[in-house]
Amino acid sequence: MNTYNRCPMPSAHKRLMDCHAMWHAMANSYMEPETFRMHLNSLIQGLRNVTFLLQKQKSELPDFTNWYSEFQDQAKSDPTMRWVVASRNRVVKESDLELLSEVKVRWVADWANKQERTFTFPPRMPSKAILASLLSTPSEKRKGVVTVSRRWVDRALPEQELLNATRKAFIRLCGLLSRAHDACGIGSCGLADRDPECVNGILTADPLSCMDINPGSLQDHFDLSAMRGIGEIYTKVPYDEAKTAKARKRYGVSDFPPGDPIELAPLVMDHARKVLSRDKHHINVVWLFRGNEVIENFAQTYADQNAKYLAFHRLADRVETLRADGILLIAEMWYVTDHKQDDKGNIIPARDRGRDRREALHVLSATREGEAVSLIAPFSRKLLGTIQLEETFTEGDVEHKSIGILSPILDRWREME
Ligand SMILES: [Zn+2]
Ligand SMILES: [Zn+2]
Repeated sequence: MNTYNRCPMPSAHKRLMDCHAMWHAMANSYMEPETFRMHLNSLIQGLRNVTFLLQKQKSELPDFTNWYSEFQDQAKSDPTMRWVVASRNRVVKESDLELLSEVKVRWVADWANKQERTFTFPPRMPSKAILASLLSTPSEKRKGVVTVSRRWVDRALPEQELLNATRKAFIRLCGLLSRAHDACGIGSCGLADRDPECVNGILTADPLSCMDINPGSLQDHFDLSAMRGIGEIYTKVPYDEAKTAKARKRYGVSDFPPGDPIELAPLVMDHARKVLSRDKHHINVVWLFRGNEVIENFAQTYADQNAKYLAFHRLADRVETLRADGILLIAEMWYVTDHKQDDKGNIIPARDRGRDRREALHVLSATREGEAVSLIAPFSRKLLGTIQLEETFTEGDVEHKSIGILSPILDRWREME
């Protein structure tokens, strides 16, 4: 059987899959200016061809005028889609885009204090040299972490980095073709998978997790207090049903029902209590949500406080890449019941309080809509390592702004508007 027979718009659909592959080729050549420009030019033409090819078939496609004009109206009010159309005309008829090589420098002192600035630097200048030139200016700011991210922008769309801009256009076109397939009564049309293997015929209006717009390979991090670089290691752990079954048995737990991070927080806390009692410790776990769906989960570790600030900014990068709208964190924390100030009047963080600090299990959830919940279960370690857990309580009046650890993610949600 020829699987292509089932796709009602194979030319447009295959061209969209080409765009996915071209996007990866472009991302992989980010640090090679000429190759990057070449792939960008092809990608922009590819994106535009999807709609040209669809229009050619308009007499054969059910309800075309309806869904296509809806797409056109949206595209007209979207600066990214207008840029794709203008850029395609420019690339085909006039000249290249005017690419600017920039670095974005982010300085994070603590949860509350950070600054971001964008500079123009030659594309081939190594990040180390950029850092050296930034640090050569005398400054009081010798604490915290600085991150240098490489970025390309087009002069005609200066506020948008190009992996991000072209991905946005790709997502819109996926939405259009998904709608077109629906109109033909076809969910999955069965176009064959390609290379790289993430390039398949599945159509979704959500971002694909493989299209990382904030890849670690384009960022360098520097610890200003220790005056050394911070590296990032990412390890992918494939899902293993046998291990999951073993874990269910070990902790005496079952799977979670569907729910958003706020609804699930008490259930997750019950799980976490069982894990802590059994293992005597609990790793830091992050769940990212889109609505009621968990789209990614992972464990985070960091060597020290500066690495922790950085880890949460990298988490915000991932939230942006996946367009996650909810987050749930599980962690062990230091916990105090009162506030003490240092000689300068600053509140001393619980982690620095010495002997009067306590340990607690913490489940913290937040959504992009502004909801948040913070559950705390204090515990003590008894003889022979037994864990004595107290009742879980809800931290009162939790507002987004009061949760420092979430600030990188909340700021990113605002920037994503
Ligand atoms: Zn198709
Ligand atoms: Zn991919």
